[in-house]
Amino acid sequence: MVLGIIWALLSSTMGWSAFTINWIDPFGTIFINLLKLIAVPLVLFSIISGVANIGDPSSLGRMGGKTLGIYLLTTIMAISLGLLLVNTFKPGKLIDEQSRIDNRISYEIWADSQGYEIKDGINYLQDPEFFERAQEISELSKSELKEAAVSDKVETAKSRKETTPLQPLVDIVPSNFFYSLSNNGLMLQIIFFAIFFGVCLLFIPTDKSQPVLNLVDGINEVFLKMVDVVMQAAPFFVFALLAGVVSKMAGNDIGKVVEIFKGLSWYSLTVLLGLLLMIFVIYPIILKTFVKKIPYTGFFKGMSPAQTLAFSTSSSAATLPVTMECVEQNLGVNKKISSFVLPIGATVNMDGTSMYQAIAVIFLAQMHMIDLTLAQQVTVVLTATLASIGSAAVPSAGLVMLIIVLDSVGLNPAWIAIIFPVDRILDMFRTVVNVTGDATVCSIIADGENMLDYKEHENPTETFDLD
Ligand code: ASP
Repeated sequence: MVLGIIWALLSSTMGWSAFTINWIDPFGTIFINLLKLIAVPLVLFSIISGVANIGDPSSLGRMGGKTLGIYLLTTIMAISLGLLLVNTFKPGKLIDEQSRIDNRISYEIWADSQGYEIKDGINYLQDPEFFERAQEISELSKSELKEAAVSDKVETAKSRKETTPLQPLVDIVPSNFFYSLSNNGLMLQIIFFAIFFGVCLLFIPTDKSQPVLNLVDGINEVFLKMVDVVMQAAPFFVFALLAGVVSKMAGNDIGKVVEIFKGLSWYSLTVLLGLLLMIFVIYPIILKTFVKKIPYTGFFKGMSPAQTLAFSTSSSAATLPVTMECVEQNLGVNKKISSFVLPIGATVNMDGTSMYQAIAVIFLAQMHMIDLTLAQQVTVVLTATLASIGSAAVPSAGLVMLIIVLDSVGLNPAWIAIIFPVDRILDMFRTVVNVTGDATVCSIIADGENMLDYKEHENPTETFDLD
């Protein structure tokens, strides 16, 4: 990982960025493709096997309820911490006053065009002195909007909005399972099908269900072996990934990365602080409270392969196979628990994403001189929870879903363009939080079910030995 970053910085100073992007970066893509190739069938077979191996349907219901409940709790904790940080440090207010006033005027123009009422007192559009400026800005923001690299995503989100409130529920139930399998974003449909299949397997006679279960378990093993094989080459692939990501940001000018960061530095720092607090303080406290067996360093040692991979791929789905290995072999969680809890977590539990969405919305409001009321902040908590559940576990999914959170409190969805430049880096960190959160909850559930057998491991990366 470090060598990849050094290589990218070196290649941008030496003018080799095109070489890096053409000849090194594709290996990063191959790596992500391989992991995604494994992730979808692994989710399917491991959930079926997880559900069907539980044996007793009543313990399945208890465990399912507990899993979803704790996932929801950690997500709400993450959002609350994010709100606390962003309201304390107010990164959006550290931008100079004049540009905040300009931002506010352009917001009012937008709100006016949407038929929204401005509630919090200031209304620059009614002030003749500002009117001319407002017209100027209106021209500017329209053309800016057109150029925004993300405008097509705004359209997608808008078209999504025009459906019924129960649409998310309808979307979980597939009408054609093969369609769900061939579209990565439809992980919730795959989970639905797998649980349905697994539960029904529990209710048919053993002589019929056992051969199916043996087959499912066998296929599951094959996919886990594929992970082993791919992970043999992980260091090289991770080098290629990092070299590619940083080179694409920097081009042949490192100064560009520095500039982008300077502009959005307070925002980025607030998000980073929140994410680091989750990883190094909140999760360890939760673990210490509920699972005494796993020591602080043991947890991080055991999870580091998954965390590194989450950082370099920015995708909890692509990391899932390795998260499962780490949790089972290094933390000692029984396969029965991990194969049920983790695939669901990778899709629905995204603490890092939800925290980042909360901070981003308040930051964007602050830099447009908008003070969100308490009720609006509660709305942010609710929609960020739902948006993080709905985010696919792939790079930048959280940014796209941010549109919905902005929309829920009457802010302009096109503002995601403002934070777009630093999003990839923050995505890397929030994916680490997402994966760490899943592992934490998985350990708690396993301990609660007496299925946690933690032992000190000398070298956790041994996990990936072929034998
Ligand atoms: N990249 C994140 C993940 O896969 C989702 C996001 O926040 O964009 O977990």
